[in-house]
Amino acid sequence: MIQVEQALSIIAENSTKMPVQKIQVHKALGYILAETVYSPINMPPFRQSAMDGYAFIHSERHQYDIIGISQAGDHDDIKLKENEAVRIFTGAFVPKNADTIVMQEHVLASENSILITRMPEQFTNVRAKGEQILKEQVVFEANTRITPAAIGFLACLGITEIEVYKKPKVVILVTGNELVKSGKELPKGKIYESNAVMLKAALQSIGIKKVKSFKVKDSLKATKKVLKNILPKFDIVLISGGISVGDYDFVKEALLENDVQEHFYKINQRPGKPMFFGSKNETLVFALPGNPASSLTNFYIYVYPAIINIRGFSETHLPKLIRKLNTDFTNNTGKTLFLKALYDETNVTILESQSSAMLNTFAIANSLLVVPHDKENLKKGEDVTLLPID
Ligand code: AMP
Ligand code: MG
Repeated sequence: MIQVEQALSIIAENSTKMPVQKIQVHKALGYILAETVYSPINMPPFRQSAMDGYAFIHSERHQYDIIGISQAGDHDDIKLKENEAVRIFTGAFVPKNADTIVMQEHVLASENSILITRMPEQFTNVRAKGEQILKEQVVFEANTRITPAAIGFLACLGITEIEVYKKPKVVILVTGNELVKSGKELPKGKIYESNAVMLKAALQSIGIKKVKSFKVKDSLKATKKVLKNILPKFDIVLISGGISVGDYDFVKEALLENDVQEHFYKINQRPGKPMFFGSKNETLVFALPGNPASSLTNFYIYVYPAIINIRGFSETHLPKLIRKLNTDFTNNTGKTLFLKALYDETNVTILESQSSAMLNTFAIANSLLVVPHDKENLKKGEDVTLLPID
């Protein structure tokens, strides 16, 4: 049995970045850049007015004759004299020798002239050419995540296509004779299947949508067969249940018989001990425990960072928070604990129902509190580490 940190590093060692693909900018939300992007233009491409007002050459003078108009989209390079101004609007081209724009609220205007009532400083309200970015400057470094604002910025630079890491194709396989789909009446001895929908939601929250799931009975033959079929088709295979030591747990055997290479089996933690991690060619296989709280905990602790890593993110772990524990706590298990917890601005409370089978408090938790395996006593008021989840 290995420790949590070893499990994490084995997963990291065996995770390689996804191949890259070209993608249209408007479809790239949530993808991670695989290239450094340079600007093909200056932005703004020309000196722009930042206000509706009047463009003029800054001086002591307050009175100006209006000799023309520059509307957004125009490009009329009107040559101004010292006593002349141009009516101008936000985003419009600023005539070459004008250096200042007075906003219209600060002038008294007649048809042909203006009197500036509040003199702006020189260069006010002129957006310099290239003030956001110059041609050939770096727009984004590789490994940047594409946000809505990033899409806007790329679009305003005229960039239509970028190179990103592909999203992995993920599949979920749930095992268990006892499982029925929710929505049907519950036959005696059965339970509703919840891991597949829960893991799908967890995947969605990190940008992996449209995940297929399959269900298989507790049979070695059937498990082997379905794995043989799905292993070559997906980048990541998540399996739920059947990985413990019961007489009807066939997942490990079925994986090994499909030539999946074992990287580890069982981790010194609670919940979530019975987990298998392996790979076949480029496919990563996470066989998660069937107990729902264990399954989701191990998703957050192991699957999440693996996906983040292969998708090209620069930061690969769940963010960590430090809070003050508001009770004493004893860990006499010798295992790393991941406790469902609720934190606020200063403190953290350990919730009831920590059993690996129970989701009732996980469902209202906002974090997993990490108690290291070698930490026996935690005192009230002590700083503890949390992994926020949503
Ligand atoms: P297993 O790891 O297959 O021994 O399952 C451990 C426990 O988790 C058992 O009580 C199962 O009924 C339950 N379980 C397994 N898979 C699921 C699932 N997909 N949805 C809900 N509960 C499950
Ligand atoms: Mg089972």
